Amino acid sequence: MAFEIKEELMEKVPCNLCGADDYEIIYSASYDKISQQELAEKFRSSGDELLLDQLVQCKRCGFKYINPRIRQELILKGYSEGTDENFISQADARELTFDKCLEYIEKFTEGKKGKLYDVGTAGGSFLQAAKKRGWEIYGSEPNRWLCAWAKKHYGFEILAGDIFAYPFPDKFFEMVTLWDVLEHVADPSKNLKEISRILQPGGLLVVNYPDIGSWLSKAMRKKWIFLLSVHLFYFERETITRMLEKNGFEVIKIKPHFQRLGLGYLTYRAKTYSNFLGSVGNWTARKLKITDWQIPYWLGQTLVIARKK
Ligand SMILES: [Zn+2]
Repeated sequence: MAFEIKEELMEKVPCNLCGADDYEIIYSASYDKISQQELAEKFRSSGDELLLDQLVQCKRCGFKYINPRIRQELILKGYSEGTDENFISQADARELTFDKCLEYIEKFTEGKKGKLYDVGTAGGSFLQAAKKRGWEIYGSEPNRWLCAWAKKHYGFEILAGDIFAYPFPDKFFEMVTLWDVLEHVADPSKNLKEISRILQPGGLLVVNYPDIGSWLSKAMRKKWIFLLSVHLFYFERETITRMLEKNGFEVIKIKPHFQRLGLGYLTYRAKTYSNFLGSVGNWTARKLKITDWQIPYWLGQTLVIARKK
């Protein structure tokens, strides 16, 4: 049965980059394709619902975002609940990806390792990689199940909530990281402002996001794999740079970001995008017994390293 999104579930938002409320529609909403059950499951941690909401572009600054959208208190509630065994199955692959990332990022810290805060750390795989490399680790994650998993699996505490739930002192951290987080939060500018406050001058902010301005996104258009209902904001190099600058950062590096996942998981996730391709991939991988292969992949993910001014 078709489900009509109730007005009180939705909110209209101005441009998070420039504050204007003047936009053009890139893709219109297709809520007729969603069921009530699907809506309830929309904001699980790995959120693999295809984009059903309206994607708009600010006429003043060009920033792309979802508007109107599900109310933010419902979004956070959605993140705090739910479980995701499939996400967790990839912890080893994530640790490997993050270890390589850190090796690269540490070139920008001149070998210094201090207090590190990973915001939206999921199951804490990045923190585990950082801890092994000598960082003093802190992390927060809205999903309580993932926090408990990290405690059990890695033995460290993760603060349950978003960045505002536990305000740290000014200039407390040498580094803050946002892995696949900024496009999910209700107010990216407010998050960056808070990070600017808790980072030391000269400290690093590392952000990874799917770039809607990448050639792959442009080639795939509405079929681009990162057009998902859980992604509220669609950055590209220009808009992320401007948002970082507005909040007291200087961008020192932007580059494509390769991630690694087990082939079995990739084919499982691919089913969201194409049932046929996902099933064929999955079957092939199982037949060849290569589901555990760690495959580097790039679908438009972009890494930004910025320095607090
Ligand atoms: Zn704007």
